[in-house]
Formats: sequence, C-alpha cells, structure tokens
Amino acid sequence: MPTKYVVVLGTLMSGLGKGVATSSILRILDFYGFRVFPIKFDGYLNYDCGTMNPYRHGEVFVLDDKSEVDMDFGIYERFLNKDLTGDLSITGGKLFSIITTKERRGDYLGEDVQMIPHLTNEIIGKIERIAESKKPDVMVIEVGGTVGDIENSYFIEAMRQFSLKHKTVFVNLTYVPTIDAVGEQKTKPAQIGFRLLLQAGIVPNYILCRSPTKLLEKTKEKLSLFGNVGIDRIVDDSDQPTLYNLPLHLMEQGFDRMLIKDLGLREKPIDRVKLAVWKDKVAKIIKPRHSANIAIVGKYTTLKDSYASVKEALIHAGSAADTRINIKWVESSSLEKDDLSEEFNGISGMVVTGGFGLRGTEGMINAARYARESGMPYLGICLGMQLMTVEYARNVCGLKDANSSEFDPGSRHKVIDLIESQRGIKQKGGTMRLGSQRCIITDKESIAYKLYGKSSISERHRHRYEFNNSYRKLLQGKGLRISAVTPDRRLVEAIEWTTGFGIGMQAHPELKSRLEVPSPPFIGLVQEALKFKR
Ligand code: GLN
Repeated sequence: MPTKYVVVLGTLMSGLGKGVATSSILRILDFYGFRVFPIKFDGYLNYDCGTMNPYRHGEVFVLDDKSEVDMDFGIYERFLNKDLTGDLSITGGKLFSIITTKERRGDYLGEDVQMIPHLTNEIIGKIERIAESKKPDVMVIEVGGTVGDIENSYFIEAMRQFSLKHKTVFVNLTYVPTIDAVGEQKTKPAQIGFRLLLQAGIVPNYILCRSPTKLLEKTKEKLSLFGNVGIDRIVDDSDQPTLYNLPLHLMEQGFDRMLIKDLGLREKPIDRVKLAVWKDKVAKIIKPRHSANIAIVGKYTTLKDSYASVKEALIHAGSAADTRINIKWVESSSLEKDDLSEEFNGISGMVVTGGFGLRGTEGMINAARYARESGMPYLGICLGMQLMTVEYARNVCGLKDANSSEFDPGSRHKVIDLIESQRGIKQKGGTMRLGSQRCIITDKESIAYKLYGKSSISERHRHRYEFNNSYRKLLQGKGLRISAVTPDRRLVEAIEWTTGFGIGMQAHPELKSRLEVPSPPFIGLVQEALKFKR
C-alpha cells in the first residue's frame, strides 16, 4: 500500500503543543501496528539547530546519527520509543542550500529559479524520497510556525500540491480561549485561523482545539459550522494532567478509528499489551505513591525548554519508580556563594546539566561540592561531569586553580581540556563530538555498571572538551573512580564518587530516555533520592 500522510498545521500562535499533538498521532498509529515516521519542517534559515542558543530556541536535540535537530524530535522519540534520523528534519536552511547548489551546478540552466515550482518541487521530492527509503504506512508531517507566517508559507503551498498527488489528511491545531469574566469559550480566533488556512487552499480534516478546559458541545457546534468540518472531527485537546495522556485522551474521542478510516488504512486490532503498558506508565505519573524533590541546576533555567529532555527523563524515571518528581529549577549563577543549604533545603537529589561558556560555572562547581559533602545524590551531565571533575581536583586534590580550558585557558591545571581531534577546527556547525558513541564500563563495582547492568553501552554526545588524561592518575589516586571510557580507552566517559551516589557522564543520557524505556542514570538518581529523603 502506498504511504499515507498526515500534515499538522498550527494557527493563531506558537507554543500550542504541535509537537505533542504530532507525537500523539504517531503514538496512536503505532499502537495499531502501523509503521510511522515524523517529518518536521522548520522555516528558519539555519541549516540545523546546532548553532542556536538554547536560551532563545530551547534545547538542541541530538540524534544517533549526529544530527543536531529541533527539540520536537525529542518529543517524537519519547512518545514513539524509536530512534529517528536527521533526514526527517527539513529546514529552510537545508532547502535553500540545495537550491543554490543546484542552480550553480546548472541544473536549472535557462530558467529563473522560483519558490513555485522549484522550491516546492524540492520539498515534494524530498518527502517522496524519504517515504521510498523508509517505506512507512504513514508519515506525520509537522509544519513548524503558524499559518500566515512568511517562513513556512512555501512549505504549506508544497503540502497543498502534495495532497493532490498523495492521500493526505490535514490536522489544524488551534486555540480556543476562555474569557474569565463570562466563562465562555470563544471561537472567533480559531475561525480567523481557519480562514487563513482556507486562503492557503487547505481545508482541514480535523480541528484539534487547545484550551484550558474541556471543549463544550456548544463550542464544537459553532466551530463545526464555521470551520466546515463535521462535529465529530472537532477534537478536544484541552490541558491534560500529563502530556503523555494526550494519545489516550484523543482515543477516548474515537479519533483513532476516524483517522485510520480517513487515511484509507486497513483496519487492524490495537496492540493491547503496548497500550496497557502506556496506560500504566501514565497512571503512575498522574497518581504516584511516592514523591521526591529534585533540583535541576543549570545556566539556562529561565527558559525551561533548554532542559526539556532532562525534565522528561526525570518524569520517565519517576513513573518507573512510582514517584512524583517535583522539580526545583536552580539557576547556577545564584549559587556563587559559600552556603547553599537554603537552596537545597528539602531537595533529595540534583542534576547538574550541560552547557557552554563561563557564566554560572562556578555555581555548578559549588553545587557539586555541596552534593559530595552532604551525600546528596548527584548526576552530572556533560558540563555537569566536567565541573564535577574540576570540583574534585580543587577541593579533594588541592589543585586550587583547576578548571576547564573552556573557562580559564590560563589555568595551571586544565583538568578538562579540548579533545585532541577538536584542535584546529574552525567551523562551528556540526563539528562537535556528536551523536551516539559507544563506551565501555570498565569497573564492575561501579555505579555505572549497576545502573546499566552491562559493559558496553551507547549514549548520545555533544561536546568539544574532555577529561584531561594527564590528571587521570592523580585524581584516581585521591579516590575518584573512572568507570567508563571509549572503546580505544582514550576518552573518559564516566566518573564517580566512591563516598555516595555521585556520577558524572560525558554523554547526555537524557536524550535517549523514553516513557517506555527510562534512562538508567535517571532511574538511579530517583531511587537514590527516595533513600536520601528517608
Ligand atoms: N561546553 C562543554 C564542552 O563543549 C560541555 C558541553 C555540554 O554540556 N554539552 O565540552
């Protein structure tokens, strides 16, 4: 059977949760055993997300294949429990670079190169080639931005043309506000968004309505009338107790059966085991037996999206441990002082996160010291591992000016230094040590071995600096455990305290955590936090 397509478009405003809606559609179709893949279009002219500031754009998500992609890929993977590839990310930057390369090569000789048909054909061809190579039953295409933006207009036009050739269902995600004083759900904004879609030549098959409260029948009737969409296809997407509940919430409204029918897919029984596992995991997020307060220490905490995967990894681990995770966001620059007992009062574990640049690093070093000295469970991720090393060098080994050469190139003890293979690299985009890298847990007594239960693991990376091997002996001599290294033994991948639960990983284990398969270090942290609390 030829591949079918769902296109998810947002109207009115960004931040409505298109990624979650797209992921829920993927999750539902996967429950029925259909082979599905997402495609994400982003209109920005960056080639990829690698050069963007997490402060502005949210976390840069990294895939196994080294691609640095939009954080929506994190949502897809967490919902779908499937490793995705960078070709599924289509950006304005990638498209324009293809077009100009082709033009210079003479591929369009004699023609004036235009948005329509050259760019639109490029998009259509790209999606068709992905479908040819991956052979999915359904591809769910999320269009970044909002209908009416200049940035995504040519992509929406391409989707209109695409739907003339391929079976395509359009889903419009929109917003239905409630005016507090009257308590009435207002449909006018959604109607205006709908009109913009019509102007683009697209009639949606479904209107998914985000709203703070459940969509009223009256509201549905009105939207159906003005939106020219059957009332059963006006779907409630109101705030959920957890975003992982959305697939279930959509299914309760019969969205699964309707969509399968509208796509012309053959009916299949749902995978009851998979569904039951999902339901159980969701129930343990909504109504867990235990709770733990965990601090996320970072330098971009004013934008929580910078640490989306860390937050979700904690939720996954919490669900596995039947534990509600109350997150305390701690901006590391606020920790640049001696006494941190107030900041960490009532906290049972901390994650010190990744990041770049000097600001806030001294606070992270202080946080690591606080955890080591108080026995608070500690998980250091990438920068959090590097600064755990610096803290140990300074405060246990007496190397007072120890630092990373990223922050103090003049330091006499650069216990963290640029990776050899990074020297001489000038280009910024896509040149870090990236993607899935295998590493070997060498010490069977280690925390890492207990967490992963095997010696050979693979996690995703994104860094330029590493543990300086000249300091291995000295730090080990003072009790720091090096528990994992690269297969060639050259790079240190994990370090640990032997006095309590403290582990630092050069990788970003949060990037591979899924609701169905939580990340081992996060499970460890939550379990230890429960013990610490007691
Ligand atoms: N800035 C550090 C490096 O480049 C850490 C990177 C990170 O935390 N992802 O190695």
